[in-house]
Amino acid sequence: MSNFEDELQTAYNPQERVDAAKKLEPEFWKHKKLVNMSREEWEALCDGCGKCCLNKIEIKGQIKWTNAHCRFLDCQSCLCKIYPHRFEVVGDCRDIDLAAVREKPRWLPKTCAYWLLDNGYDLPDWHPLITGKALSVKEAGMSLAGRGVINETKVKDYEDYIVDWQDL
Ligand code: SF4
Ligand code: SF4
Repeated sequence: MSNFEDELQTAYNPQERVDAAKKLEPEFWKHKKLVNMSREEWEALCDGCGKCCLNKIEIKGQIKWTNAHCRFLDCQSCLCKIYPHRFEVVGDCRDIDLAAVREKPRWLPKTCAYWLLDNGYDLPDWHPLITGKALSVKEAGMSLAGRGVINETKVKDYEDYIVDWQDL
């Protein structure tokens, strides 16, 4: 295990993050636009599904998702093993900002809270801000946990790994 991974495992607990979000204004996402959210509110919206860490390819102007995940994703916990250092280590790791949320063709999965809210939808009932439980994403089958995914280091041709999952 790298030093980065050690650091993450001692520093990051998904349920603590959900518990911390309980101190935020109740249902802030119902009346605040993404652009007006505080950093804490923005961070609380991420459900930790891990799906934005799947590799995508563009074919004839269309985004195709693959089931090949970034080498630094722990696909059981759906945590990034190098989260505080991800932009230094992975050149194409993308910050989830408004530009990413609004990118066309759509770049985030259709279950992503940022994309849902920005497009006029509410949070799904399995979202941790609704349930109060980090695990509810996994329990609803909406995270990568338990899915047939492959580490990108084993992939030769991404076209062989294109998937058509309903929640992407
Ligand atoms: S897809 Fe959205 S909700 Fe899921 S981990 Fe990425 S940013 Fe968070
Ligand atoms: S480095 Fe970026 S893409 Fe890779 S697991 Fe971490 S957050 Fe996801």
